[in-house]
Amino acid sequence: MNNITLAPVQTDQPSHLMPVFGRQPISFVRGQGAYLYTEDGTEYLDALTGIAVCGLGHAHPVIAEAIAEQAATLIHTSNLFEVPWQTAAAQKLAEVSGMEEIFFSNSGAESNEGAIKIARKFGHMQGVATPKIIVAEHSFHGRTMATLSATGNKKVQEGFGPLVEGFIRVPFGDIEAIQEAAINHPDIVAVFVEPIQGEGGVNTAPQGFSYLEEIRQLCNQHNWLMMLDEVQTGNGRTGKYFAYQHTNIVPDVLTTAKGLGNGFPIGAVMTQGRGVGVLTAGNHGSTYSGTALGSRIVYTIIDLMQKENIVANAAEKGAYIVEQLRTQLAEQNVTVRGFGLMIGIELPKPCGELVNIARDEYKMIINVTAGNVVRLLPTLNINQQQADQLIERLVKLIKTYLA
Ligand SMILES: *Cc1c(COP(=O)(O)O)cnc(C)c1O
Repeated sequence: MNNITLAPVQTDQPSHLMPVFGRQPISFVRGQGAYLYTEDGTEYLDALTGIAVCGLGHAHPVIAEAIAEQAATLIHTSNLFEVPWQTAAAQKLAEVSGMEEIFFSNSGAESNEGAIKIARKFGHMQGVATPKIIVAEHSFHGRTMATLSATGNKKVQEGFGPLVEGFIRVPFGDIEAIQEAAINHPDIVAVFVEPIQGEGGVNTAPQGFSYLEEIRQLCNQHNWLMMLDEVQTGNGRTGKYFAYQHTNIVPDVLTTAKGLGNGFPIGAVMTQGRGVGVLTAGNHGSTYSGTALGSRIVYTIIDLMQKENIVANAAEKGAYIVEQLRTQLAEQNVTVRGFGLMIGIELPKPCGELVNIARDEYKMIINVTAGNVVRLLPTLNINQQQADQLIERLVKLIKTYLA
């Protein structure tokens, strides 16, 4: 099955890659479900999945077949024509997201650019000349100019000024700060937050998801758009198809990417309610928006998620993993936060080196975010035996580290 020969990698040659990534000294040549393999066949349990991307696991046979068949049939024609797979993918995505209008993008940042454009146009339609969007501290929305300006992390912005204006920053979870902003800024048009801050350390607001309900209420009261960045929390990750579905509210604008394509780069910006009809012909676009190939992949993934009850599995295995970690690490002074299979274990000290220890000594791929939070983003179709394997390795890793 692995009969593709890679071109020999010449590591003695100078690299021509822009050095923007801090890479680990390892590469994988193959994946299968919840596991990754190096050239020499060493198996690693993947609890990162390409940063919440490959939710259905690596080399999924149904997705691989859909990709191969579509690639051999028709990859792309442009949006100058009808794209039946795009229409079908949008129907599926509308069904699981509860949204009405969908624009396919190619990444999370691009989806968020779409949301920011919708907010601004929404404002201009009402005669607001300088529309402003409320965003949160410790948020992450991407690396393009508008999305890095919306991001609440100085390190992401440093060196790239002047930033895009029109963002008002408030502490995440602080509803009074939003009310206060409303008094000081008559030109606010939208609130844009992540339901759970992923890069920020797997954080919900202190009041939990009721923060989202409070935001919804304020948006209704002031005629603002409620916009959620579900680039990371979407597509079943938190045990609901979208994290907002843990609540009774629906946002006006919803963005996603990561798990939407299981590794194929595709995202979406979606609207319902007040968000509908804001962008019209000529307002937005992208050459690659909803290619036949990308759309068929999205369709195939949602279909698989539905038929195999993947979201329910994420909820169930996630709850089990969190409960086991809390029990088995009860003496360790750690805090375990989990929603489905988006899990953070906050340690009492910085723990960035755990990434290397987990990989080299425990053959497990994990991530550390916000300095001291072990972040787990395993496959959504993880089985019981893999969940137990993950728990066993993690408990040993953390106990040894904190001993
Ligand atoms: C990853 C991420 C993004 C950026 O997505 P890209 O595909 O890397 O552009 C935006 N928002 C959130 C919440 C993310 O986790």
